[in-house]
Amino acid sequence: MLDKVVIANRGEIALRILRACRDMGIRTVAIHSEADRDLMHVGMADESVCVGPAHSAKSYLDIPAIISAAEVTDATAIHPGYGFLSENAEFAEIVESSGFVFIGPSADTIRQMGDKITAKKVMQAAGVPCVPGTTDPIGDDTDETLRLARDIGYPVIVKAAGGGGGRGMRIVPEEDKLIESVMLTRAEAKAAFNDDRLYIEKFLLSPRHVEFQVLADTHGNAIHLCERDCSMQRRNQKVIEEAPAFGISEEQRQAIGDCVTQACREIGYRGAGTFEFLYEDGKFYFIEINTRIQVEHPVTEMITGIDIVKQQLLIASGEPLSFVQSDIRIRGHAIECRINAEDPYTFIPSPGKITHFHCPGGPGIRVDTHLYNGYTVPPYYDSMIGKLLALGHSREGALTRMAGALHEIVIDGIKTNVPLLQDLMRDEAFRKARHNIRYLEDKLDNRSQA
Ligand code: ADP
Repeated sequence: MLDKVVIANRGEIALRILRACRDMGIRTVAIHSEADRDLMHVGMADESVCVGPAHSAKSYLDIPAIISAAEVTDATAIHPGYGFLSENAEFAEIVESSGFVFIGPSADTIRQMGDKITAKKVMQAAGVPCVPGTTDPIGDDTDETLRLARDIGYPVIVKAAGGGGGRGMRIVPEEDKLIESVMLTRAEAKAAFNDDRLYIEKFLLSPRHVEFQVLADTHGNAIHLCERDCSMQRRNQKVIEEAPAFGISEEQRQAIGDCVTQACREIGYRGAGTFEFLYEDGKFYFIEINTRIQVEHPVTEMITGIDIVKQQLLIASGEPLSFVQSDIRIRGHAIECRINAEDPYTFIPSPGKITHFHCPGGPGIRVDTHLYNGYTVPPYYDSMIGKLLALGHSREGALTRMAGALHEIVIDGIKTNVPLLQDLMRDEAFRKARHNIRYLEDKLDNRSQA
């Protein structure tokens, strides 16, 4: 069993990891920036190390500083959380070569899956359905590029193999824009990722975002924990997530679940991971794998009763999974709202001091947050300050509980997106599960034009 874990992250996920460690009797080391001395988990951890100034490039992304923190505290493992260094293959490699356990997949897996062309090829070979398109990088022959796109059918999307975080892609509505788009995307990809390999995919017009959570141990076992729907998005950022995804049949769940777990076994995947799909007209299309814990993992925990962070720690300790696929049962429906420190309609960040915080509660409510009365939200990091979750017997029950909890929550002193979330709980299309990944953007456009 791991003895002492360095939590290489901040905010709610750092606190979440600390709690999982505490449940398992594992000691914790909180690393933090100079701006984050007052984070809740820093006070709760067994030890803490300041790794640098506020700017994350000089603290949460400073690999030597984090390795030093693990060395001076005599830690055994490092948990990267999400964001920051969580999908950085070089970091995973240095962690392991320095003699620590990296809580996540191997550096090779992270590298392979971070390359979208390789990931897509591997998935296709494993029988996972992908978005129609090219699986080899497109070359310089413009006639060939035009032919490939014509075969796929417009609109298409040109994507960089090394892209991520919504960068390195361009939608092409018709043929006369194709060559110019390829050139622009290639130049951007070269500058941003030092990798100018591109591929072309069919651009799906109104898909939903549906993703499968997997767990794989180091003994060749892999299972899935059902799917989540994360279609309520703004600028490719998820706003509301839920599990299970509405309207997915047990047969479909089983078919896609079999594909993704088979892919895990074939690539020797280790730890928790997420296979992301676009879902349109009843069909799944793989887009990418996230080789880390996701923000929205608690909705899956609520409906399956499995503590995913604890499973990450057990897998990293070399333990085999203690359950098989048929042990996984879905109970009820869970919804998560991301609470952000920002203006609810202009989305301008709103850091500052929390003068009053009241946390909602009651049956089926879970709040993952590092907020407390008097805490100051610093201006340097992501604006997400917490996650509010509701579990119900049905989707409707979960929505009703969520509406109640959003009514109850009080966060004074800064602006938050709670009014937008309240608005969405009353939204007819959302209540009827008729939204897709374009819905929120369109709704906000209509509102600003009104
Ligand atoms: P990133 O790694 O930058 O997040 P993804 O490949 O996961 O990139 O795509 C991000 C988002 O872009 C998707 O959630 C979806 O909204 C949109 N997108 C990507 N590929 C397609 C596609 N083929 N058709 C329609 N939308 C797409």
